[in-house]
Amino acid sequence: MPDKDYARLYRHIPPVDEVLKKPAMESLAQKIPRTMLLSAVREAAGRLRDELKSGRLSLPAGIPPRDFLTAEVINRASLLALNSHRPNLRRVLNLTGVVLHTNLGRAVLSENARLAINQAASGYSNLELDLQTGKRGSRYAPVEGLLAELTGAEAALVVNNNAAAVLLALSTLARGREVIVSRGQLVEIGGSFRIPEVMTQSGASLVEVGATNKTHPRDYQNAVTTQTALLLHVHTSNYRILGFTRETSISELVAIGSQFSLPVMSDLGSGSLLNTGELGLPPEPTVQEVVRDGADVVTFSGDKLLGGPQAGIIVGRREYLDRMKSNPLTRAVRIDKFTVSALEATLREYLDQAKVKQNVPTLAMLSARRDELGPLAVRLAGKLTAAAGERARFMVTEIDSAVGGGALPTADLPSMAVAVQPEKITATELASHLRAAEPAVIGRLQDDALLLDVRTLRPGEEDALVEVLAEALAGGASG
Ligand SMILES: *Cc1c(COP(=O)(O)O)cnc(C)c1O
Repeated sequence: MPDKDYARLYRHIPPVDEVLKKPAMESLAQKIPRTMLLSAVREAAGRLRDELKSGRLSLPAGIPPRDFLTAEVINRASLLALNSHRPNLRRVLNLTGVVLHTNLGRAVLSENARLAINQAASGYSNLELDLQTGKRGSRYAPVEGLLAELTGAEAALVVNNNAAAVLLALSTLARGREVIVSRGQLVEIGGSFRIPEVMTQSGASLVEVGATNKTHPRDYQNAVTTQTALLLHVHTSNYRILGFTRETSISELVAIGSQFSLPVMSDLGSGSLLNTGELGLPPEPTVQEVVRDGADVVTFSGDKLLGGPQAGIIVGRREYLDRMKSNPLTRAVRIDKFTVSALEATLREYLDQAKVKQNVPTLAMLSARRDELGPLAVRLAGKLTAAAGERARFMVTEIDSAVGGGALPTADLPSMAVAVQPEKITATELASHLRAAEPAVIGRLQDDALLLDVRTLRPGEEDALVEVLAEALAGGASG
C-alpha cells in the first residue's frame, strides 16, 4: 500500500455514525454520554488521518484497510472516551507512609464521620434551625459544646481551615494595631501561609522580638506599647529549633498578658486532643494544656492530628469568640454542612477514650508499631510475588514513615515496606504507570526500587494494590 497516497486511504476511515453503531461503542454508550463518545471518535479519526498523512502509520498487509482502520478508530476512541469520563479527582492508594499527606488529602475520616457526611449530603438537616424553638439556629451549635467539653474552653468557632482561623482571629483582635511575636516563630506552612504575610492581610502590624533561637519574657515586656493588641505564640509545628534555645512559654506569656491587660493567642497548627506520647510519638502540646495554661484564643487544624475534615478550629474565651462571630469575615470563611457533620462525628469519637485510637484512622495509622506492620508487609510481598514474581523482585524491608501535614517533623515512625525492583522497566517508569492506574498508587522512589510503606495502606485496599501493581509491571514490560 503506497502510504504517500494518504488521501485515498482516508476513504477507508469509517464515518462517525457507523463507528458509533458498533457493538463496542454501543456498550460504552451505556455509561458514557453520547456527546463524549462522539468527540472521542472524531478525535481518534482525526489523529489517524494525521498519522496516515505523515507516514507514522502504515497499513499492515493482509488485512482489508477498512477493517484495520475501523478497529483502530474504535480502540482509540474507547480509550479517549474512558479517559475523559474518568473523574479528575481520583482514588489514590497511599503507600508513602506519610499519614497526613497534604497532597493526598490529609486525614482519612472515621467511619462515623463518613456516614455523617453521607447523611448530610442525602437530605435536609437542621444546619441553621433550632429544632426546639423552630427559630434560626447557629451552624456552629453542633460542635461548639463538644469542643468546649473536650478542650475546657468557654466557647468555640469553626472556619474553613486554620489559615483562615488565624486570619480571622488577628483581624478581629488586632486590626490596625500591633501583635508581638517571637522571631523564632515566624512560621511558613506549605509555601503560601506565612505568619508575617497573614499578619499583613489581617491589617495588624507585626512586632518581632527576640532572636531566632532565644526569646525571653522581657523581650515581650519591652515591646509592649499603647498600640499593642495581642501577644501571639505560634507552635513551630513543622520545624524544630534545637540546641541553645529559650522559648517563652504560654504560661509566661499569660502572666505578661495579665500584667498589661493583653490577650494571648496560640496558633497550635497541628492541634492534638490526645497526648501524642500515648501514640508512641514525641510530645506535642495538647489543646487542653494550652487552654489550661490560660491562652485566651487557640487555633488549630481539623485535618491534622485531630484526624477530621479540613477546618480551622478556634477555641477560647467567650468575649473574644463573640467578637469573631460578628466579624463579617466569618461569613466569608464559614464551613459547609459536610464539615459540620464530619467534625461533629470526629469529635464524638474522642468522647470514647478507649476506642478513639482505633476509630480515628489518623490515630490508628500513627500508633501502628513496626511489629504490627511487619506481618502486613510479609503478606503483601507474598501476594505480589504470586501475582508478578517473574516481573519484579519484592523484598520486605524496614523503613521510617513520617507524620506529615507539617506536624511532628522530627518524629520517625519505625515502619515496614515492600521494596519493588522491576526486572524490565525502571522503578521510575513503574511509579509513572502506577500514577496512571485506577486506583492510582503512590509509593516512595529510592535508588532503583519503589518502596511501598504499609503504614498508610487502608484495610480492604490490599487486593486492589496487588492487581494494579501486577498490571503496571506487565504494561511496562510489554511497552
Ligand atoms: C498547618 C498550620 C497552619 C495552617 O493550617 P491549615 O489548616 O492547613 O490552613 C497554620 N499554622 C500552623 C502553626 C500550622 O501548623
